Amino acid sequence: MLYRVPAFIVFVGKVTLLEFMKIAAHDRPQTSLARRLDRQACIFTAFLAACALCCLFAPQLARAQAAPSAAHLLIYSIDVEGGQSTLLVGPSGESLLVDAGWPGNNGRDAERILAAMHDAGIKRIDHVLITHYHIDHAGGVPELVSHVEVGEFLDHGENREDSADTRHNYAAYLRAIAGHRRRIVHPGDTIAIDGLSVVVLTADGEHIAAVPGIAPAPNPWCATEHAWPDDPTENARSAGILVTFGKFKFLDLGDLTGQKEVALVCPNNPIGTIDLYLVTHHGMDWSNARAIVNAIHPRAAIMNNGAHKAGKPAAWQIVHDSPGLIDLWQLHTAEDADAAHNSPEALIANPKGDGDGHALKVVALPDGGFSVTNTRTGQTRNYPRK
Ligand SMILES: [Zn+2]
Repeated sequence: MLYRVPAFIVFVGKVTLLEFMKIAAHDRPQTSLARRLDRQACIFTAFLAACALCCLFAPQLARAQAAPSAAHLLIYSIDVEGGQSTLLVGPSGESLLVDAGWPGNNGRDAERILAAMHDAGIKRIDHVLITHYHIDHAGGVPELVSHVEVGEFLDHGENREDSADTRHNYAAYLRAIAGHRRRIVHPGDTIAIDGLSVVVLTADGEHIAAVPGIAPAPNPWCATEHAWPDDPTENARSAGILVTFGKFKFLDLGDLTGQKEVALVCPNNPIGTIDLYLVTHHGMDWSNARAIVNAIHPRAAIMNNGAHKAGKPAAWQIVHDSPGLIDLWQLHTAEDADAAHNSPEALIANPKGDGDGHALKVVALPDGGFSVTNTRTGQTRNYPRK
């Protein structure tokens, strides 16, 4: 950084130099009065120089300390009408898209992803994680790759769901990503993004036992948790991630269902507590076991439901009642639920029906503070640093 040196500093500097030259060379045999006057002149000019330096640099230092950090993590919960598409953009601009929404609808979901990318100021997506091969998550990949440059695809590996629909989805996914780098992730793997820690917690039905830096702790909510049925679908194989940015933590477990959720956090919780929870499985009541929701203790939650997709009252109530929760945001009004199982309209991105496509935008800071903006209203709610 270059600073322009004001003229008065040069003047003060010359005087100081002259004083020292006079004392050192010409005026060595001086009277005591002259020596005292020279000493006083020297002290005075040094004082002036110090004051000038303070005036010059103090405002710069004050600004450096007071300025908010430009480094932030952006998270967009993109409205794909009851599917998932969540865009994360780290402080360096490196990006991770979790799922790509549905196919069809004239490329609607790819357009909405592009709109979020435009808002974030990025032109490509570095990493795309496909949580599982259901059509509301993987179905949008062919449209995505026809519009957006992607660095790599990450997924849990082979489809293991024995259904014609999911076999079809998986085949379409493989065709779409041909020629791209593909990496199969396992619990404990990391996704390298500058400035963030992204740890894979679950994948292909397996889960992590401990996250580096987090001591697993006994989970008191396991004792009262009920048994959950076995789930042979792709949901149970969802790749789930914990994203850490300084003190801020975000959890996205895709559509992981109850039995696997409980296995992840019982008897010990390896996740600790988080700040923002992407409500698992769009708020389906096959997911969101109380033992995991209460243990992770989110401060805010975003439910990526559709107008008539998920957003089930039982799951809504568990998330709503979890200790420490301040706000439960929704991408849509759950129109099949009553008003008592929907959040106030200010917290809903799309209150009436399908089609509006408003996203929820999160800005997180490394001190743990974050905000959520409803892009329909432009209103923002802030959650303080920790
Ligand atoms: Zn889903």
